[in-house]
Amino acid sequence: MNSKRKVKINNLTIGGSAPVRVESMLKISLDKHEEVLAQCERLIDSGCEMARAALPDLKFAPDLKFLTEHTKLTIMADIHFDPALAIAAMESGCRAIRINPGNMPLNKLNDVITTAKNLGVVIRIGANGGSISQKQLDEAKGDRAQALYLAVRQQAELLLSQNFTDLILSAKSSSVPECIKANELIAKNYPDFPMHIGLTEAGPGDGGIVKGTACISNLLLKGIGDTLRVSLTDEPEREVKVGYEILKALELRVKGVNLISCPTCGRRRADVMKLVKVVEPLLKNLPDGVSVAVMGCEVNGPKEARHAKFGIAGTPGGAVLFREGKPAGEYKFEDLEKILPEFLKV
Ligand code: SF4
Repeated sequence: MNSKRKVKINNLTIGGSAPVRVESMLKISLDKHEEVLAQCERLIDSGCEMARAALPDLKFAPDLKFLTEHTKLTIMADIHFDPALAIAAMESGCRAIRINPGNMPLNKLNDVITTAKNLGVVIRIGANGGSISQKQLDEAKGDRAQALYLAVRQQAELLLSQNFTDLILSAKSSSVPECIKANELIAKNYPDFPMHIGLTEAGPGDGGIVKGTACISNLLLKGIGDTLRVSLTDEPEREVKVGYEILKALELRVKGVNLISCPTCGRRRADVMKLVKVVEPLLKNLPDGVSVAVMGCEVNGPKEARHAKFGIAGTPGGAVLFREGKPAGEYKFEDLEKILPEFLKV
């Protein structure tokens, strides 16, 4: 979003003036070809622009090759511990790899850098709070955010010293303040390079979404972040959906419909929760960026409903519908379920 440099992975540009990208991670072992490809398809449908795939063992390299040859989704190999895995991933067709500075020895990266240069591979240096070494923590005097930053810096400096600049920088932690601080340090010291942001191990459900959103939104509002992943203990498509919702809420990128609906209160004239349940499935047929307002009464309802492309404002007996700000009829509540599918069309 704010980086001066950009990188290109297959046809995907990250950084510079490119929109903030939304990523996820495959959650199925690579040797389950059909399941993995089906997950990739679902991710593509959800708008996912790149997915990481773990390559935990060399025996899965042929499966990774199969995947890169059979999916349109851009794949970044996720590599830990062993530089041979990084080389195998690149030779299997991955045009992006993530290496972890917490567990990848600096003195063994020369061949990785040479192969990446030869094959035009982007390297993400991805530090993680769960794998920073004791040495890195000691160097940072116990400051975990600083340790994450130092871990990224060590690898970045090595790669830059060998004129390797196709880099994405990333540091993740499961603590929101720690993660924000580590990313601020990276952005301050390496403003030119694209950054991947996210909170790791955020957990499931509402708690996970809130933690991930708190971290990612804070960084994006400071201009930090060129690509993101909302890590959730959930299906990867959910991660992508939440990622786009964050970008939409921050007005950085529009995907899907902007549904405005009131929380309802004792003043409500219409059952907004029930109405929203009827309206939501109809929204996927509308173009990106269209706004639909569902309001419970005459207090805020008509005004919000008028501003939206489509508005539904509750009245004592049902609702007034608005299209482009103009009233489009008043209907009884019991008739709305039938009328709305026809009304919500562009
Ligand atoms: S629009 Fe009406 S029903 Fe909805 S929260 Fe506001 S006052 Fe309550």
